[in-house]
Amino acid sequence: MQQLVISKKQWHEMRDHVARHAPLEACGLLAGKNDRVEEVIFVRNQAQSPVRFVMDPYEQLKAFDWIESNGLDLLGIFHSHPAGPETASVTDIAEAAYEVIHLIWSLNGGTWKLRGFWIENGRAVEVTLLILEE
Ligand SMILES: [Zn+2]
Repeated sequence: MQQLVISKKQWHEMRDHVARHAPLEACGLLAGKNDRVEEVIFVRNQAQSPVRFVMDPYEQLKAFDWIESNGLDLLGIFHSHPAGPETASVTDIAEAAYEVIHLIWSLNGGTWKLRGFWIENGRAVEVTLLILEE
């Protein structure tokens, strides 16, 4: 996948979610069709850590069921780095288990920034995130 299309509203939904959980990392899933996100699904960070996230397995399974029963695909996984970095960490790359875009929310000087990466063969390559004004 080369890019992901996200609405401004979805961008805000995610940003508010990660901001509310800072300084802990927060996470969630993006479901949609082709490269267009249609639903943002929050998942509890079971690790409750400022430097790590582990999706609550029950909530993750429930979300996967919901995505499938609504005829959508899993397009992305997002999580936050309240203390940086802006890019996927070594752990993120090592633990990337799905062929989807990995989105990182990082906090720098009070401003949240979103970047997306495709992780394959131990490397993270940045992809374009198109934010649609609505
Ligand atoms: Zn991370």
